[in-house]
Amino acid sequence: MHPFSYRQASDEQAAIGAVGQPGAMFLAGGTTLIDLMKLDVQTPSQLIDITPLPLTKITELPGGGVSIGAMVRNSDLAHSELIMTRYPVLSEALLSGASPQLRNMATTGGNLLQRTRCYYFRDVTTPCNKREPGSGCSAIDGYHRIHAVLGTSRHCIATHPSDMCVALTALDAVILARGAGGERRIPINDFYLVPGDHPERENVLAPGELITAVELPAMPFAARSHYRKVRDRASYAFALASAAVALDIQGGAIHDARVALGGVGTKPWRSHDAEKALIGKAPGPDAYRAAAEAALRGAKPHKDNAFKVELAKRTLVRTLTMTAQKTV
Ligand SMILES: Cc1cc2nc3c(=O)[nH]c(=O)nc-3n(C[C@H](O)[C@H](O)[C@H](O)COP(=O)(O)OP(=O)(O)OC[C@H]3O[C@@H](n4cnc5c(N)ncnc54)[C@H](O)[C@@H]3O)c2cc1C
Ligand code: SF4
Repeated sequence: MHPFSYRQASDEQAAIGAVGQPGAMFLAGGTTLIDLMKLDVQTPSQLIDITPLPLTKITELPGGGVSIGAMVRNSDLAHSELIMTRYPVLSEALLSGASPQLRNMATTGGNLLQRTRCYYFRDVTTPCNKREPGSGCSAIDGYHRIHAVLGTSRHCIATHPSDMCVALTALDAVILARGAGGERRIPINDFYLVPGDHPERENVLAPGELITAVELPAMPFAARSHYRKVRDRASYAFALASAAVALDIQGGAIHDARVALGGVGTKPWRSHDAEKALIGKAPGPDAYRAAAEAALRGAKPHKDNAFKVELAKRTLVRTLTMTAQKTV
């Protein structure tokens, strides 16, 4: 581990000012960053601890939405009454991630910015374009069972690992970020970047911007929503494939739908094509399978992860089936 200095931020402005200095990074729960520092994947010279900032509230917004402070712990968010009743998909996604101890430390802002679990990214002895731009991608011609089939490029095929972000993507969440120039609102669908030629750029945050909150818009039909995660072990493992779904069923037909996939995309993967395949149809296996085919239509598997295409389709069909069966 490289030497670094540490200080606590007294308020948002001080935090933003301090992190504007070269080599400085925010520290929230530390469950991603400290890990990567121990591996020498990230080597900040200064840590600005933002845990004292009063960004710890979950509040109801006028109009029915919910605001989640960036420092809300994953366990508190998962067990919030507001989230469990209005957006169960988010609560379920959080509870499927990591372990209780990790969820007690992990924060909403930190979860949004967690890094990929690609083993080559975490091993500084191997080439990786995301860690060291231009060095090459060890995964494409290496072992890539856990890697992405959607949104990949010839420079990177790493998945985005978060469960929470898949649910936030289905829910049309908006990320609030504050920098030297003031605050801005970024829809989650515009927040993450696919790797293209620059896998080292993962999102649209400007250097030094602080995530202050995440807002969920009012979505009454999200009371009928569900997250399902398929992985190698029953717990404490990242998704091989996952699906976050919300269904508005009225008069025996699907009136509206939200579909996002995890474990298969280079970013949390919203599928508008799957949603289109569902809307207007009667809930049932035919509509669900059509949605699954639409969601994976652009998939580009490699030799070790080809199984993910059918796995993701079956995961989505199962998630849609279970969501439709929910009573609300
Ligand atoms: C063993 C293990 C298993 C895990 N399993 C899962 C899993 O199954 N599913 C899953 O989704 N996740 C899993 N995780 C990941 C875990 O959810 C994340 O590590 C956690 O959410 C990160 O939050 P944090 O507050 O600890 O972030 P930190 O580690 O403190 O920060 C992460 C990054 O975000 C930046 N940052 C933090 N807060 C802000 C902010 N407000 N504004 C701007 N930048 C900020 C930091 O500078 C850093 O770059 C696992 C982690 C571990 C270690
Ligand atoms: S898949 Fe991406 S993160 Fe993994 S080695 Fe290739 S460039 Fe690096």
